[in-house]
Amino acid sequence: MAVKYGAIEAGGTKFVCAVGTADENNHVTVEKRVKIPTTVPEETMADVFAFFKENPVDAIGIASFGPIDINESSATYGYITTTPKPGWANYDFLGEMKKRFAVPYGWTTDVNGAAYGELKCGAAKGLTSCLYLTVGTGVGGGAVVNGKILEGYGHPEMGHIIMRRHPDDHYEGHCPYHHDCLEGLTAGPAVEARQGGVKAYDIPEDDHAWDIEAYYLAQACVDFTTILSPEMIIFGGGVSHQEHLFPKIRESFAEQLNNYLKTPDLDKYIVHCALGDDAGITGCLLLARDAMNEA
Ligand code: ADP
Ligand code: ZN
Repeated sequence: MAVKYGAIEAGGTKFVCAVGTADENNHVTVEKRVKIPTTVPEETMADVFAFFKENPVDAIGIASFGPIDINESSATYGYITTTPKPGWANYDFLGEMKKRFAVPYGWTTDVNGAAYGELKCGAAKGLTSCLYLTVGTGVGGGAVVNGKILEGYGHPEMGHIIMRRHPDDHYEGHCPYHHDCLEGLTAGPAVEARQGGVKAYDIPEDDHAWDIEAYYLAQACVDFTTILSPEMIIFGGGVSHQEHLFPKIRESFAEQLNNYLKTPDLDKYIVHCALGDDAGITGCLLLARDAMNEA
C-alpha cells in the first residue's frame, strides 16, 4: 500500500488535519482534510485523535501555534508552552499524539511549516532559503536556510523584534509584552486600533495608515535581510491580502536599506505567498515525509 502522511496545522482559531502523499520530488497531494475549531484541548484534540484513527498514516507533521518547545533535550519537548489560550499552556501536544499513534513525527511552529511548504512547493520553489512572515491576528516569522528550518535554543519569534517608530505614528502598540514591537504595530488588530476601530479591509488604499504599515513591514524586511540574507521574503496572513501594500513595502525597503546591500530584484524578493491557505498543510506533509525518511 502507498505510504500515507498526516498533517496537523494547529492554529489559534482552527486546526486543519489532513491526509495525503508527498514524494521525493516534493510532489504533494492532499486527499482528505478537516477543519476543527480551536477550543480547549479536551475537545479539539479528541477530534484530531478521531480523524487519525479513521485515517491511519505512516508519519505525521505538526506545525503548531506557540510558543512551543522544540528543544529535543528539554523535558518539555513537544509542549505548547506559554500561550494565554485557556487549557493550552503547558499542553504536551506531541506526547499525547505519540501515546495514540506510534509513528515518526515532524514538530515545528505554524510559520516554519508554512515557510517549508512555500520553499519546496510554493513561491520559493527551487531556492534553498526563504523567510515567511504572516501578518494576521498576530505576526510570526519562520525561515528555511540551506533547505533546513532555522531553529536554535528554541524557535525564532520574528514578530517581536523592536521597531524604530514612524515619525507620524503615535499609536502605542498592542503587544502585552513589548507594546510597539513588530506585532504590536502591524498585526491586523494594531492596524484597526490605530484607525480607531475601522476594519482593516475598510481602510482606503490611499490612507496614510498603509504607508505606516508598509514602513514597519519594510523595516522588518531590512532587519531580516541583514541578519539572514534569505533568497526571498514571503508574506502571508489576512493583512497581506492588501496587494497594494507590496509596492509600498518594496519602495520603503529600498529607502531604508539605502543601497547598503545587494538583494534580488525587489519584485521577486518581497512577494505574496503562492500556496495561500495550503502552505501549512503542504509543509506538514513534507515534514512527515522527512520524519519517515529519518526514522
Ligand atoms: P489568523 O491570524 O487568525 O490566522 P488572519 O491571517 O486572517 O487570521 O488574520 C486576521 C486579521 O487580519 C484580522 O485582524 C484582520 O484585521 C486582518 N485582515 C483579514 N482580512 C483582511 C483584509 N482583506 N485586508 C486587511 N486586513 C485583513
Ligand atoms: Zn511583542
